[in-house]
Amino acid sequence: MNTEKSKKLYSEALKFMPGGVNSPVRACRNVGRTPLFIDHAKGSKIYDVDGNEYIDYVCSWGPNILGHSNPEVIEAVKKTCDKGLTFGACHEAEIEIAHLIQKHIHSMEMLRLVNSGTEAVMSAIRAARGYTHRDKIVKFEGCYHGHSDGLLVKAGSGLLTNSIPDSAGVPKSYTDNTLTAVYNDELSVEKLFDEYADDIACVIVEPCAANMGVVPPKEGFLQFLRDITKKNGSLLIFDEVITGFRLSLGGAQQYYGVIPDLTTLGKIVGGGMPLAVYGGKSEVMECVAPLGSVYQAGTLSGNPVAVSAGIATLKALERNENLYSELDKKAKILETAMIKAGLNVNREGSLLTAFFTDKKVIDYNTAQTSDTEKFALFYSYLLENKIYSAPSQFEAMFVSAVHSDKDIEYTCDVISNFKI
Ligand SMILES: *Cc1c(COP(=O)(O)O)cnc(C)c1O
Repeated sequence: MNTEKSKKLYSEALKFMPGGVNSPVRACRNVGRTPLFIDHAKGSKIYDVDGNEYIDYVCSWGPNILGHSNPEVIEAVKKTCDKGLTFGACHEAEIEIAHLIQKHIHSMEMLRLVNSGTEAVMSAIRAARGYTHRDKIVKFEGCYHGHSDGLLVKAGSGLLTNSIPDSAGVPKSYTDNTLTAVYNDELSVEKLFDEYADDIACVIVEPCAANMGVVPPKEGFLQFLRDITKKNGSLLIFDEVITGFRLSLGGAQQYYGVIPDLTTLGKIVGGGMPLAVYGGKSEVMECVAPLGSVYQAGTLSGNPVAVSAGIATLKALERNENLYSELDKKAKILETAMIKAGLNVNREGSLLTAFFTDKKVIDYNTAQTSDTEKFALFYSYLLENKIYSAPSQFEAMFVSAVHSDKDIEYTCDVISNFKI
């Protein structure tokens, strides 16, 4: 595989950006490689600057559920661009997308459009704190909620109630109010409520974790979170930045039948443009300025171009009645091939991760038992065979509507020849 041009661009990029990248995992350091530079992408394929074609299972880390360069989305964006890129003022499409979102995710009675998942989560938590007049939040080890200060905490075992920031540059005092529990472990949540009940503003969770690799919630876990938050006057926030419009049109909350107070969306909702959303119970959202005293704003929030991509995407998803069952079928075929090849796979709908451990992966600690050197070999093997997947053990593989039977079949063939 010739990647000379990518290598050359990478050495240029290193001069300007830390690690040559604008988001760390793209640097491919975890898998001992250097990044490919992408020229363009279409349907299920992505093309690097050296002209190599790959079947893409990163799908821009989730947004491209319709595949790359969906004609309707591109058309909508182009048409909107002709009318101006940003007004910093109200426009009709904001209402249209709000309608579309609420039609499928009924719990988002009121919502706000923002620019990134990070911003959506940060703002949802601020609203939860403003509404409850409480400071502490509970998050789970291994769940990622963007890179805002208070959420860069995973805490190790033994540090469950004494959160230490994961990142330099985050003062310890910024994470003092972040309590950390163990995913799929009800007892760990109960303990926090026993100690801090009256101080806990919210519990935030990825309803299906996908940032420690895919780790689905065990039966009853989300309902348990629903019950314990309700009982204690705390809010339940589902971070559906990945799962929203991915597990079903109504997101994870519809898929699992558990309804949170607040929801964050990102990735798919913007159809490939920078758009994210937070929202939920009117009573809570009415705390947000200018109605209430929780401040949150944005120069480019509700950007017409981003919103048009989101609308076109959501409409296409709506129209495609069998989409989710087909995604599920395709992902299941991949899962089966991986299992046959001796890999340990977690899958929920069109999200899947192959782990390299004998343990069943149910939380952060079990995910950490995966042999990341073996993962790196698997990653390189796929790439050399023109299959583009996430360069980290702790990410998901995304299946899209346009992965063809042929794509899936080829991928399964490649996987079946993988020897650990
Ligand atoms: C990607 C992601 C985020 C952060 O979104 P950005 O748009 O990258 O800021 C937050 N939460 C979850 C669950 C995510 O997967």
